[in-house]
Amino acid sequence: FVHWPLSAAHKRKLSWVQLAGHKGNFKAGDEGTILKKFSENEMQCFEKLTDDTLLPFVPGYYGVVKKEGESFLRMTDLLANFDLPNVMDCKMGARTYLEEELVRARERPKPREDLYNKMVEVDSDGPTPQEHSQRGITKPRYMQWRETMSSTNTLGFRIEGTKKSDGTCRTDFKKTRSKQAVIQVFKDFTGGDINITKSYLSRLMAIQQALKTSEFFKRHEVIGSSLLFIHDHTGKAEVWIIDFGKTTAIPEGMMLKHDIPWQEGNREDGYLWGLENLIQTLESVSTE
Ligand code: ATP
Ligand code: MG
Ligand code: MG
Repeated sequence: FVHWPLSAAHKRKLSWVQLAGHKGNFKAGDEGTILKKFSENEMQCFEKLTDDTLLPFVPGYYGVVKKEGESFLRMTDLLANFDLPNVMDCKMGARTYLEEELVRARERPKPREDLYNKMVEVDSDGPTPQEHSQRGITKPRYMQWRETMSSTNTLGFRIEGTKKSDGTCRTDFKKTRSKQAVIQVFKDFTGGDINITKSYLSRLMAIQQALKTSEFFKRHEVIGSSLLFIHDHTGKAEVWIIDFGKTTAIPEGMMLKHDIPWQEGNREDGYLWGLENLIQTLESVSTE
């Protein structure tokens, strides 16, 4: 009986995983790259990041590609150099919707039945009596509700999904809220491996340092961006900053601190506050 060696490309196909977003948003690219559905906003972020201190922590960007009449952003497949990777998507920040989405929903509320159904699925008492009677919920209202159910409001980040090398995939973290609950997810994810946890911690601290000197970061409201954690059995462990779909430039002359509370109009996202909490949470994983 012969184990036919899997080609690198085939292995990659087997282990590629998408922990968030619509399934149709990604395609395989050539030579260790992936294609993400084009967004003008995200393209501009990638272009501005080419001469920023954050560059070593974001996927390599190789421009816009047309395929079957659709446009995509071509970027490094961060999983390509791992052998049967474990992957976690952590959505950063104390707020997950743009201020402009809030304004729009206030001016022209568009109650959605799909979001109503999603809320009821998790908590049948979630909707207000009015929302129950119209069987609809606006997008920012749904996003705000998700923030209160998860650790977004309390810790400034939340776990969106995990996939482990044994194939188990979890995206059922909508109610993972307390620090203890988050610690448990990380323990399960790292299999309690101290060295992996330490590698993750040093990478997070390097990201923290880079953020503090980044010109890009000072001038952008970073909403809905994630840290992607990846490790495998060889002991390799990396963290990358991904998803700039909702990362938006703030007006000229304005500067964000990223670690003070949000009040409508100040555009603050709580990213650095969340990152500090994430680091402290991982420190508890390695000591408790
Ligand atoms: P959403 O806004 O709902 O989070 P999205 O369409 O903007 O989704 P992303 O968040 O950028 O998509 O990516 C979705 C998932 O795809 C991530 O959670 C991750 O699992 C995977 N992914 C994204 N970019 C990469 C990459 N460069 N390398 C490897 N995996 C990636
Ligand atoms: Mg995302
Ligand atoms: Mg996105």
